[in-house]
Amino acid sequence: MTIKRHKTRKSRIRCLSIGGSSPIVVESMTTADPHSVSKVVKQVRQLTEAGCGLVRISLPDIESAKLVPRIKDRINVPLMGDIHFDHRIAIEAIDRGIDSIRLNPGNIRRKDKIKLIIDRVKEKNIVVRVGANSGSVDRRKYKRNNADALVKSAMEHVKIFEKEDYRNLIVSLKSSDVKTTIDAYREFSKIRDYPLHIGITEAGTEFSGTIKSSVGLGILLSEGLGDTIRVSLSCDPVKEVYAGYKILRSLGLSGRGIDVISCPTCGRAGINVEKIANAIEQKTMNLEQSLKVAVMGCIVNGPGEAREADIGVAGSSTHAILFKKGQPVKKIDKNRIMPELLKYIEKFQ
Ligand code: SF4
Repeated sequence: MTIKRHKTRKSRIRCLSIGGSSPIVVESMTTADPHSVSKVVKQVRQLTEAGCGLVRISLPDIESAKLVPRIKDRINVPLMGDIHFDHRIAIEAIDRGIDSIRLNPGNIRRKDKIKLIIDRVKEKNIVVRVGANSGSVDRRKYKRNNADALVKSAMEHVKIFEKEDYRNLIVSLKSSDVKTTIDAYREFSKIRDYPLHIGITEAGTEFSGTIKSSVGLGILLSEGLGDTIRVSLSCDPVKEVYAGYKILRSLGLSGRGIDVISCPTCGRAGINVEKIANAIEQKTMNLEQSLKVAVMGCIVNGPGEAREADIGVAGSSTHAILFKKGQPVKKIDKNRIMPELLKYIEKFQ
């Protein structure tokens, strides 16, 4: 299946292109104390190492916005400042060199204050992510928290900027309900061509949130919708980045990373597939090369079933074999499976 990307206009955050035919960006957000430069820098670096293309940082007050230059000096990934309620924080962050901002104009109610922000972003031509999520939809206006309310609410924000002739926007429409999110993005993409940041908001724990996000983002991405993604999980944000790449890779939308495939095992299994596959996945999580590695329980069916893998291992009661593209390469001791596989993975680098 070839996925035809929905046509959106192109935005640029420093050297990062978003939208148009640019590669889909995997985003995440720091959870570190926004008043600690060293903690934020440490986490931004961890996220960058995992492949995060755009890192969002919370800027809850003026003090945190003042730290932007000190953070930027020590990292090399574009930053998006997450700002709510106070227009002065946005202005401070922009003046201090933030690369882009995420803003919810709905919670900065006064139009003259929003106008001050727009004047500033215009000066610097920086990207603003606007939009709606199920928590920010105005319940007095929209009785039902459905896709229609999300789209109308996002459009209100978009129009504030369009009225000032500012279109350097990225738009998001997130609900914690998968179907509502899908419907909202489908509808919005019919009426505007801004790059779309897609995600399921408050998706949940690492397990449930990954499943919800995979279903929601998988459907949207397979329809060509989504220029930048975030898998929101209640866990270490580095895992959000890993999950983002796995989703993209499973649809052929990113080549980054080792794809570990493994059999479900059955009575024929001669090796501990679960343990080896998990260990290989952990050890190769940060590698960028595109490679498919198989861990299969038995030599009877394993190499044949995993013939599309670049390399793999299969077990028997006495030993294991290493295979390439389904063909056995060498017999190995069962205790040497990990080092042998890692040695072959290194050769592909
Ligand atoms: Fe069972 Fe072998 Fe198939 Fe794994 S590869 S499920 S062990 S038959």
